[in-house]
Amino acid sequence: MIPSEFKGKVLVDEPLSNWTSIGTGGKADFLVFPEDADELLKLICSLENSGVRWFVMGLGSNVLFPDSGFRGVVIKTDNLNNMIIEKNLVKVEAGVKLEALLRKAAENGLGGLEGLTGIPGSVGGAVRMNAGAYGYEIGPHIKGVLCVVEGELKNIEYRYNYRFSSVMDMVVVEAVVEFEERERNKILEEMEDFRNRRKKTQPLDRKTFGSVFKNPEGKKAWKLLLEAGLPGTRIGGAMFSRKHANFIENTGNARTEDVIDLINLAKEKVYEKTGIKLEEEVVVVKEED
Ligand SMILES: Cc1cc2nc3c(=O)[nH]c(=O)nc-3n(C[C@H](O)[C@H](O)[C@H](O)COP(=O)(O)OP(=O)(O)OC[C@H]3O[C@@H](n4cnc5c(N)ncnc54)[C@H](O)[C@@H]3O)c2cc1C
Repeated sequence: MIPSEFKGKVLVDEPLSNWTSIGTGGKADFLVFPEDADELLKLICSLENSGVRWFVMGLGSNVLFPDSGFRGVVIKTDNLNNMIIEKNLVKVEAGVKLEALLRKAAENGLGGLEGLTGIPGSVGGAVRMNAGAYGYEIGPHIKGVLCVVEGELKNIEYRYNYRFSSVMDMVVVEAVVEFEERERNKILEEMEDFRNRRKKTQPLDRKTFGSVFKNPEGKKAWKLLLEAGLPGTRIGGAMFSRKHANFIENTGNARTEDVIDLINLAKEKVYEKTGIKLEEEVVVVKEED
């Protein structure tokens, strides 16, 4: 399944629960770590040619894998970790932690994305879904994206909307992120403020995957969930957080099935009460395509 020339790390029958922030997910046949962009491209081409199912993940902070696991190859981008700063632009590979990008930029007197501090994802994951928080979004700062498309690396015109982008169905390899020149200490201070805001409002000491649902137009998902009485509601080991109504916590032994059942219960309750259909923000990987 994995080409013989592949040099990166390969884990066989690896529990995905070890690699997702919610701590659920069954075993992947293979979990692999390409050493660089070239190896990632070659691997994807080879898997495509041989009809093997594959899935790219960054830091697993916004994904639910089935309890039955993943038949095929899960590709982790951790080793795509280069960053090059040119004036106020940072060319950054997909596997770099968003937090590491912001810190490196700050140390070089580059800011403007402070509100994204504390999002525990990779650049690839953040660019794909236009990650955002506290009125900030990564989208407006993306000045170029290199993706794997049909077996080639291509520069893609990046468009974005709320938790949506034009590269949703592609593999992001590298992005160019624009910052603004600001005073280093001021940026670091603001980053710390945002980190503290998160600590106060989010259950950061628990296993979660961030927001369960997107905000419906003109509404806050957490408010709808709160009003429908979801906080504290539990199915198996999964529970709607009492600290942030739009977070689900793994209380210790949650399975993905518990989480999905809880998501469906919340959708029903909110729909009954308000007529609003909530849509997942978290990516739910299907058993089979
Ligand atoms: C405590 C907590 C707080 C959070 N707060 C926020 C927040 O404020 N705002 C916010 O937007 N999100 C938030 N999140 C969710 C999450 O961190 C972001 O969505 C993040 O951008 C996901 O990145 P990832 O690398 O973990 O993606 P993963 O979970 O690994 O993958 C998520 C999706 O992105 C895809 N993907 C990953 N890498 C690539 C790539 N290189 N190319 C193409 N697709 C790729 C995967 O295929 C999958 O579909 C939070 C999560 C947690 C746990």
